This record gives sequence, structure tokens and C-alpha cells, in this order.
Amino acid sequence: MPTSHRHQIAILGLGGIGSAAFHELSRRGIDVIGIDRERPPHELGSSHGQSRIFRVAYFEHPDYVPLAIRARERWVEIEANDSRRVFIPTGGAWVGKEDGRHVGDSRMAADLHGLRYDMLDGSETTKRWPALRVPDGQVCFHEPDAGVVCPEHAIRHFLENGEEHGGRVLCGQTIKSVRPEDDGVRILLERDEIIAEKVICALGPWTDDLVRTPDVELQPTRQLLGWTRPSNPMSLREGRLPVWLFADDDETIQYGFPLCDRLPGSSGAKVARHYQLEACDPDTVDRVIGEADEAFLTRELETRIPAAAGPLIDARVCMYTMSRDEHFVIDRHPDHDRVIMACGFSGHGFKFAPAIGEGLADIALEGKSRLSMNFLSSARFKHE
Ligand SMILES: Cc1cc2nc3c(=O)[nH]c(=O)nc-3n(C[C@H](O)[C@H](O)[C@H](O)COP(=O)(O)OP(=O)(O)OC[C@H]3O[C@@H](n4cnc5c(N)ncnc54)[C@H](O)[C@@H]3O)c2cc1C
Repeated sequence: MPTSHRHQIAILGLGGIGSAAFHELSRRGIDVIGIDRERPPHELGSSHGQSRIFRVAYFEHPDYVPLAIRARERWVEIEANDSRRVFIPTGGAWVGKEDGRHVGDSRMAADLHGLRYDMLDGSETTKRWPALRVPDGQVCFHEPDAGVVCPEHAIRHFLENGEEHGGRVLCGQTIKSVRPEDDGVRILLERDEIIAEKVICALGPWTDDLVRTPDVELQPTRQLLGWTRPSNPMSLREGRLPVWLFADDDETIQYGFPLCDRLPGSSGAKVARHYQLEACDPDTVDRVIGEADEAFLTRELETRIPAAAGPLIDARVCMYTMSRDEHFVIDRHPDHDRVIMACGFSGHGFKFAPAIGEGLADIALEGKSRLSMNFLSSARFKHE
């Protein structure tokens, strides 16, 4: 018989989202347990690879802006209270067509919410950041409040600080089943059983294995991160280059980061693409980087940011969990009041982690959040 333990709230999955919820609930003095089969941070899910873009002028939808503003306040606080680098305010330069999605819609979100930004032409951009080359017919939207979040350092902060506040972390056991019952939710692990009054499900690409939500379709996809040996590292250093992004013709994105000291992992220049790559099974995803992957990551660097162009010296596979409309799903499960879902982060969730942690804690404790997150409810899929 497995040993049974009772807790007020259990968090299933301790990637960026689950660990942030764990941290927030512990800070509020709640009896919380966080469960993961790995020992986060790890490289098998969605929350690894040294850096994530943080931005506020949200081209995906202006409704995310208040959440991003709150997340930024929290990242700044966390950074001030941790000796590791968690948040680096580098600013961001988004290059594309003036009326295209990444420039035009960022600008719209910024105007709507009164955010600071500058619009620069090609020569103004290169004067300010000599590494960047704006293609003819394109412009640069500069967002001073953008920056870099380090996912590994953030997760360590959330878990260690959460434990200091009394939360319990249980790693190294796979969750086998989750059964909502009248008096609580029964979580069966390999060796233990946990019974919790409420459960927050933050299982990333594995969500559907354990808790499905009617009407919500989730699709994990294989994604790539790479590091080049840059031809001119000096011009890529933090302070001389913001986080950068170039819109491709099909409105997908190539992006990268300045060279920042004291981040984990490779010392090369990090480059990536935000792109809907092939669907995958999270248990069997191909983690080997092939020649086509290398070419895909480094394509166009020579013309856009020649200082970052160079041989690929390191690369990793990571996973997105796409929802149908590419927006998050943060909501109580429609059939099980004790289960709260946090999934479908569609490749853009990490920047919001501390704000989402607060929102999830509110929903678990009070039924709804003070933060404006209603637009992320699963009800939007019901009548599609
Ligand atoms: C290449 C790439 C680039 C990205 N860039 C950005 C960016 O620039 N900005 C941004 O904001 N976001 C970005 N994202 C998105 C962001 O990183 C994700 O939205 C976020 O990390 C999702 O975290 P998660 O906690 O939902 O999932 P995960 O990190 O995958 O966590 C899920 C956890 O659940 C655990 N688990 C699963 N099943 C079980 C089980 N049965 N038993 C026990 N434990 C289990 C796993 O071990 C894992 O630790 C990027 C993502 C990728 C892949």
C-alpha cells in the first residue's frame, strides 16, 4: 500500500509555471506540495535553455499587457532578492514591417496601455546597436521594458524560496493518476499517494496524459535553441545589444539574446526561431540536432546580425504545448471544481510565470483571480 499524505494544495509539475505557483502559495503560508518526476530545472520539458524573452507590448493580444506589467514587477523583486541572475533588463528591438504583426501589433498594444517605446529606421537602429541590420522596407520597434529571464535560475529561486517558506517539494516520482473525489483529489504516485483539497495541473506537454479538459486541444511541438560561436562577440555584449527579433516573411520570428555574464549553459550567442515546428510526442521527441536543424537556426543571421553568425557550437530541443488559438488556458476544470488547469502556453508563457503563479494561487484559494485573466478561460473553446 502506498503511504498517504494530505496537503491543502498539490501542484502537479514544477516547470516554470508549476514552480511559480508553488512559490506563491508557500509565500502565502499555504500547506502546499509540488510534485515532479524529474528534479527541476531539467532539460526534458519546456523550461530550459538559459534565457527567455520578456516583453510587455504584447503583439499576441493587448489583454496580456497588465499580466506582463505585474510579472515585470515581480521579476525585478526576485532579481533583487537572489544572488543569481534571474531578470536582466536589456530592452528589446523588434524588427519587421511597420504594419506587420510584430511591429504594428506591439505598437498598438503599447499605445493602448500607454507603454514607453521608440520607432527607429534602419540607420538609427544600427547607430544605436551596431550589430543589428534592418532590411530595406522594415523598421525597429524598441521596447525599453523588455529583457531576459533565466528559466533555470527562476525555477531554482521559486523552489528554494518556496521550501524556505514551508512548501514541500517531492521529486523523482511519476504521477500515475489524478482522481477528483468528493473529499479531495487523490494523486497516485509510484510509491506515495497524496490527497489534496485542490490541485493545480501544470504538466506542460504531458498535460493530456493525466488531466484532459473538454474542448481544449493541446499539441506538443518540437522546438530548437542554438548557440553560435559569434564572429564579433564584443558588439553582442549586454549593454551593447538588446534582446532582438526579426519577423520572417511568413511572420514567424528569428530571435536572439545579448551575451550576458553569469547565465548557465553555453557561452555562445543564443539564437532561435518562434515557429510552429512538427508535432511531437513528449516521451519520444527526437532530441538529436541534425544538419537541417542547424541550417534552420542559423539561416539569415549573416544579413540580420552578422556579428552573431558563426558555427553552431551547442543546441537543444525544447517543447511548446500549443493550444488551438495559441493563447494560454488558465482556469478551473469545467467538470472538476477542485482541479485548476494551467496549460497551452504555446511557446510564450515563461515571461509571465510569477504573475501566473499569483493568479493560480488566487483561483485555488478564492475561486477567481484579482489579475485580469478571464480571457484565458477554457470557456472560449466551448462554442467554436
Ligand atoms: C524553445 C523555446 C523557447 C521559448 N521562448 C520563450 C520566450 O522567449 N519567452 C517566453 O515567455 N516563453 C518562451 N517559451 C515558452 C515557455 O518556456 C513555456 O511556456 C514554459 O516554460 C512552460 O512551462 P510549463 O511549466 O508549463 O511546462 P514544463 O516546463 O514542461 O513543466 C512540466 C513539468 O511537468 C512534469 N511532469 C510531466 N508529467 C509528469 C508526471 N506524470 N509525473 C510527474 N511530473 C510530470 C515534467 O517533468 C515537467 O517538469 C519558450 C519555450 C521553448 C520550448
